[in-house]
Amino acid sequence: MQSIEIGGVAVEPLVHFANRPLAPAAFFPGHDPAVWRAHRSWLAPDHWDPDADRVGITVQSWLLRDAGTTVLVDTGLEPGVPAGLDPAGVDLVVCTHLHGDHIGGNVLAGGAPAYPNARYLFAAADLAFFDPATLVEEPGRSAAAYRRSIAPILDAGLAEVWDGRRALTPSLTLVAAPGHTPGHGVVELASGGERALFAGDALHSPAQILHPEVSSCFCHDPAEAARTRLRLLGWAADHRALVVPAHFGGGRAVEVRRAGDGYAVHRWAFPAAAGGGRVTGRGDGVVGARRPRGEDPE
Ligand SMILES: [Zn+2]
Repeated sequence: MQSIEIGGVAVEPLVHFANRPLAPAAFFPGHDPAVWRAHRSWLAPDHWDPDADRVGITVQSWLLRDAGTTVLVDTGLEPGVPAGLDPAGVDLVVCTHLHGDHIGGNVLAGGAPAYPNARYLFAAADLAFFDPATLVEEPGRSAAAYRRSIAPILDAGLAEVWDGRRALTPSLTLVAAPGHTPGHGVVELASGGERALFAGDALHSPAQILHPEVSSCFCHDPAEAARTRLRLLGWAADHRALVVPAHFGGGRAVEVRRAGDGYAVHRWAFPAAAGGGRVTGRGDGVVGARRPRGEDPE
């Protein structure tokens, strides 16, 4: 996969799987189905399959190289190391939160830590929330995932517990952004006048840029998740920061701008994935600006 430079930081997506189809009504409870149709021109085919009415969810990690330090943001659903990645060269593993699709690759198939030279950063609030001793199991909350992917890291002494804010490198800072989970965190990048925000699961679909009030069915606190999403989008728009979530396919990372009382997609960072169809929403034109409710553009 190609990498891009943001300031002095090399940024590379490591894609675990692409476009897993999910029913939007189940994934985004309370959403307005008309939004998908209204923005079909750029949501399809990379983010929504209009024929099947399915949201496409990609799972990817982000590999960041800054000032001699290699940071892996999230590790995917399955055990093991992505092809082409030297596990010994990873210095920091950041789990934006402790859902299974972000921690599965913390370990190898046999259960040993996948990145033996790394410090693994876990938020204190998520470690407490996902502790099997007190966990109430629901979709996305599994004691088995904790035992498989977190406990071996704690046992090996490779974990570092953080809270609030934690500098990673001269250009990268881990910051609490709760809502999706109690300890959900994002990584801010500031380098050479450029900025980015590795947003984890603060967003699952670019449709949420237009409707930040819509949270996913996997959000622990949907109202807090929505407040966090709004705050992050505002920060990103005001700082011209690239928004880099865990689950966007297509152009993967997106620059947003304020548009009226909401936000619009301004520019995608990557060409659409091979086989993912045409490139959507690239260039400097504003695509996907929020439209007033009730207006049917098609
Ligand atoms: Zn996720």
